[in-house]
Amino acid sequence: MHRVTQGPKFTVARAEGVWLWDESGDRYLDGTASLWYCNVGHGRKEIADAVHRQMTELEAYTVYGDFANAPAIELSERLAAHAPVADPRVILTCGGGESIETAAKLARRYFAAVGSPERTHLISRTGGYHGLHGFGTGIIGMDRFREGFGPTVEDASVVPHDSAAALEAEILRVGPERVAAFFAEPVIGAGGVYAPEPGYFEEVSRICRRYGVLFVADSVICGFARLGDWFGIERFGVRPDMVVFAKGVTSGYLPLGGVIVDGRIAEPFWNRPGNPFHHGTTYAGHPSCCAAAQANMDILEREDLFTVAREIEVQLESAVRTLEDHPLVEQVRAGTGVMAAVKLNAEAAERGVTAPDVFTEARSRGVVVRAIPETLLISPPLVITWEQIEHLVATVRGALDAVAAR
Ligand code: PMP
Repeated sequence: MHRVTQGPKFTVARAEGVWLWDESGDRYLDGTASLWYCNVGHGRKEIADAVHRQMTELEAYTVYGDFANAPAIELSERLAAHAPVADPRVILTCGGGESIETAAKLARRYFAAVGSPERTHLISRTGGYHGLHGFGTGIIGMDRFREGFGPTVEDASVVPHDSAAALEAEILRVGPERVAAFFAEPVIGAGGVYAPEPGYFEEVSRICRRYGVLFVADSVICGFARLGDWFGIERFGVRPDMVVFAKGVTSGYLPLGGVIVDGRIAEPFWNRPGNPFHHGTTYAGHPSCCAAAQANMDILEREDLFTVAREIEVQLESAVRTLEDHPLVEQVRAGTGVMAAVKLNAEAAERGVTAPDVFTEARSRGVVVRAIPETLLISPPLVITWEQIEHLVATVRGALDAVAAR
């Protein structure tokens, strides 16, 4: 829970490009693009201007029933044109977790509509993060996020993230006639930056097709150039039944997310009188958020941040790998997308050094990274330079040395 009014706070006052300033005017390198979302960097006036223009024209109006607005329609068409999904239909939401709810409910509702209402089971992966709404909490691949909330989604299970065979075994254990969908991030993000083994997604995609299970790619982190393409899953050569997106679609300038659905799955619900998919939220299709997305996508295309990201991916990997020789580091994971993880080792644990200690030390030295138990996460804006990457990694090394010396 974010208690913004209690306790000591690190108050971010201003941001520009890859830089943040706190209240006292000290500057920090944003090594995480806020929470994995600020792909085009901070302070882009053209996004602010686009939102301002939209706000003065039509700030907001519902897209419930047959209502629509031009920014929502145009954004949906633009997203559909890039989506690695057959006959794509776009459902807009206000963020990642809300999109996961939508995808999970749509998967179940689809099977109910086509005469297989017993297909309700949802399978996800260890380390998978799918937001913290109801279904997201039910399918998350990290137990600590489920503890203490009582029963969540009962028809759900988690399989090891690195094994397509484990997915098939789980589908057979549950019974294929009971499984609705499989959720996977192209590269696991918040759970620690785990890229798939070569061939994993091709195999997973074949397994899902074989058993009639819907494959949902959660591209909330991996989309909008973080993996060098629009949705991250293209890189692995497969076409999911649904793609969930958020974060980078607006680079976080305003909240927006959505689900891109294969037309076959949307068919029972699309443009039907008495649409049986009773689901939706107040701010879906918010025109000002859609204007932010359009301006953000303009920047991604104009600056070709897709190609840039592929270059930064290589630079970031080579820089972060230099930390592998540090006495407190067990492993570096990097090289697929502009994201990296640095896992601390048993010696760090013995000495009582935690990833949050390193995070705090790095921040006091002017670099913001993230920390999950035992692991640092790095995911800078896609406009970071080589010198800034070197500065980031040198500062993390300095922070590791400092906490090691305590
Ligand atoms: N899916 C993934 C892969 C995510 O990383 C996140 C957020 N970190 C979500 C879903 C949830 O998005 P939100 O926080 O916008 O609800």
